[in-house]
Amino acid sequence: MQMANTLTQKVVVFDLGKVLVDFDYSIAARRIAARSSKSMTSLVSFLSASSPLLVKYESGQVTREEFFQQVSKGTGYQGGIKEFSNCFNDVFFEIPAMVRLHSELRALGMATYILSNTNDLAIEHVNHMPFYRNFDGYVYSYEVGAMKPDARIYEALEKMCGRQGGDIIYLDDREENINGAEQRGWQAYLHETPEKTRAMFEQIGLIEGYSQPGA
Ligand SMILES: [Mg+2]
Repeated sequence: MQMANTLTQKVVVFDLGKVLVDFDYSIAARRIAARSSKSMTSLVSFLSASSPLLVKYESGQVTREEFFQQVSKGTGYQGGIKEFSNCFNDVFFEIPAMVRLHSELRALGMATYILSNTNDLAIEHVNHMPFYRNFDGYVYSYEVGAMKPDARIYEALEKMCGRQGGDIIYLDDREENINGAEQRGWQAYLHETPEKTRAMFEQIGLIEGYSQPGA
């Protein structure tokens, strides 16, 4: 069919956090705080999205070891790096409706990729999720050395998948990352809810609508 042929040229790229996987760093912060001399507040400031140290970690300017050292120094954390890493167990949760949507795309033979501002600690934990192995490729900010919306990380994805512009369908929950993708001519969509994203995929002909059981 004509439409199917056009669509097989395309790839679907997913942001990770708050799109496929939810996370709650405050769980890790509580565990770390329990072994630290300073309050929870100083920990949260290390782990929030605006934390300069976390940005350095996620843009590959500091390693996990250096991140760990600096958090320990700032909070008086008593544990070793292994225990510190384990504080991030069960902090990441699959978003079932999105995992299902992704598996539907795979069943249709679509190529799919991950494009994420992230760090090796997060990826070590997310890697264990069975759905996570079923992508064609993964582009991580800490490996590329640049974070969305920096053009370099979008370029890295283009190189990996061998596609450009409108052949790349992109989902992200952050406006600035969508803008970065649009500047490269990608077909980018702001992810708000799994329901809205599913409806959008149906609308552009990526998946067929299906009726609810009993409907
Ligand atoms: Mg996100």
